[in-house]
Formats: sequence, structure tokens, C-alpha cells
Amino acid sequence: MKFIDLEAQQDLIRDRIESRIRSVLDHGQYILGPEVRELEQTLALYVGVKHAISCSSGTDALLLALMAYGVGRGDAVFTTPFTFIATAEVISLLGAVPVFVDIDPVTYNLDPGALERAVQALADHDDSLHPLPRGEQFRHLRPRGVIAVDLYGLPADYDALKAVCAKYDMFLVEDAAQSFGAEYKGKKACSLADVAATSFFPAKPLGCYGDGGMIFTDGDDIAEICRSLLVHGKGSDKYDNVRIGLNARLDTLQAAILLAKFEVFPEELVARQHVAARYTEALKAHEPILRPPMAPEGLLSAWAQYTVRTTDPQTRTAVMDRLKKAGIPTGVYYPKALHLQTAFASLGYRPGDFPASEEASQTVFSLPFGPYLTAKEQTLIIAGLNSR
Ligand SMILES: *Cc1c(COP(=O)(O)O)cnc(C)c1O
Repeated sequence: MKFIDLEAQQDLIRDRIESRIRSVLDHGQYILGPEVRELEQTLALYVGVKHAISCSSGTDALLLALMAYGVGRGDAVFTTPFTFIATAEVISLLGAVPVFVDIDPVTYNLDPGALERAVQALADHDDSLHPLPRGEQFRHLRPRGVIAVDLYGLPADYDALKAVCAKYDMFLVEDAAQSFGAEYKGKKACSLADVAATSFFPAKPLGCYGDGGMIFTDGDDIAEICRSLLVHGKGSDKYDNVRIGLNARLDTLQAAILLAKFEVFPEELVARQHVAARYTEALKAHEPILRPPMAPEGLLSAWAQYTVRTTDPQTRTAVMDRLKKAGIPTGVYYPKALHLQTAFASLGYRPGDFPASEEASQTVFSLPFGPYLTAKEQTLIIAGLNSR
């Protein structure tokens, strides 16, 4: 059994993928070929935003969004410590400071109340209100923006997050690397903040056969700056350079593969709901394993992962071992909260600063998942959980 089965999908749509790849080989426009624009138009329409800008990865999509806002030295960008490193890494890479804010322990997403306390604490230089980066060099940070993450595919609480951002004049970026296809109160993920970044890493809900990403926004200025930044800060043409940028384009071949895969994506999204519902039903009878939260009213998860939780770290180790013996792979997303990562040691955070994130990192694990996971396989997985 595989943790994420990419072969089942390939078996089903191999012909379409090959025919898309063949047409790229025929026209030979490997950089910014017609498939790139076709994909951007297709996904902008699906998500319901004005601009979709493809790029080389989800990480670069986040980086470009922050660069477009001119984030740099002296800026504070608030984000969750319970996410993949990329979310916070891009903040530090630009010389700004990630100010971590704990998660809601039920949804695993950024807690809007804690966000507001963090912004206040930063303004008042008062870390009794909320843990802040420790050290004199962090005393005079300007609150610039927030990166919210739709963890495991479930959108964060955007109404509440937007209210906080509006109150303190901050931008809001949606890290939708795991939530392409998800919904929030009638809107699609990737349309829920000022700018959104998604990833086409193979294991994401919509994945290519390499690295890729996309930026989504309704903002004309941000879109134009991103388009310039991802081709070396180009101006009127590529040998007119008006800002310092990157080489961060999406390959035509990856766009072609994504176009073939997107044809079945809406059906896969429905299948993901069914697979998740089957797990949730089967796990009702299995109390020591806590099921993922029911999506709050009006929300639909893209189910990038089906993540369960044990009551304590020892039980997690025991259950994961038991499943491994039964030939069932599991994964932990993520085993170490970001404020405790060596890479962020200079920020001076300590264990205990963000208890909900720390507890989640010690007790969650994800079961094999995907739109093609069969009821039979799920029965085996549940039996593995129940075995002694
Ligand atoms: C995968 C992921 C990213 C990074 O995407 P890449 O395409 O691998 O660069 C960023 N944030 C989150 C939450 C992710 O899951």
C-alpha cells in the first residue's frame, strides 16, 4: 500500500498526459509556451480570481507574493509555527522576521484571537501578552502582513483573519499549497486573501511531475509586479530590467501535465470527500484515535491529508508502529513546530511558547489517502489500527 498513490491516477489518464506532452515536444516552446497561459486562464476561472501567475514552486509563489509587497528588513510577518518550513522560510529569506502565532487546536489553523494579541504585543513591546522573538534586535518591528495556511486542505478562518488585518493595515497571504479545490463560504481556496500561493508538488491535491506553483490575486499591481519578478524583474521586455527578481517560471511541460490532470480534478475532489467520509465513519468506533475536525459550516476541505490524533505521543508511536508492521505507511505533518527548528534558533523562541502547535506536532499522524483509495484498502487500514 502507498501513502499517496500517484500511479492509480496515471493509469487512468496516461493517454491524455502523453498527448499533452507530445504537443509540447512538437511545438518546442519549452519556456512560457502556450500551455502556460492556458493553465493560468483555466485555473483563474476555476478559482474565481482575476490573475493567476504560474511559477516554479509553492515556495517561490510565497516568496514572490512577499517580494511584491516589498517585505524586508524591519518587517514582522505573522504566521503559524505548525506548517511546512517554506511558509516561514520565505519571510526570513527576505530579511523580515516571522512572528509566530499559535493554532486553533481543533482546526490546526491560525487562531485569529491569538493573532490580534500578537500584533498588540508587538506594538506594546509586551511579550507577557504573547510570546515574541526575544532580543533587542526584534524590538522595533513594523507589522506588515500575515501568512495563513490552509493546513491539510481546510481553509483557515478568513473572515476573522481579514478583520484583524484590516484593523492593523496588514496584507493577508493565503498559503493554499494544500488546499487547491477547497471552499470557504461559497468561495474557492486561493481566492480567500489578498494574494494566494499554491503548490503543484506531486503529492499536493493538484500535482505535476516535478516542481511548480501558482500565485492568485485580484490585485492588478501585485499581479504585474509578480509577473516581472519571476522573469528577472523584467520591464517592457526581458532585457529591460526594472527590479531585482528571480528566474521562477513554470516549465511548459509541467503546465501541459497539469492541464491533463486538471480535467479529472473536479471528480477527484468529490472522490476525496467520499474517501474522507469513509474514514470518519469507520473511526467513530475507534475512540483513542481522534478524527479530524468536521469542516465548519460552509467549508469544504481539499483533503491533502487525512490527519488523526492520539491522546499522547507514546500512543502515536505505538499506533504508527502497529500500522507499519501491517504494511501500512503513515506520515507526520509536522513533527517539529517551526519555532523550535534550529533554523529559527536566533529568534529565541522556547518550548512552551505555542502549546497547541507543540501538542499537535507530538500527537498527529496522517493515514494513506487519495481519491483512488478503495474501501477495501481502508478496511485493511482500520483493521491495522485495531490490531494488537
Ligand atoms: C508544500 C508546501 C509548500 C511549498 O510548496 P513547494 O511547491 O514544495 O515549494 C508551502 N507551504 C505548505 C503549507 C506546503 O504544504
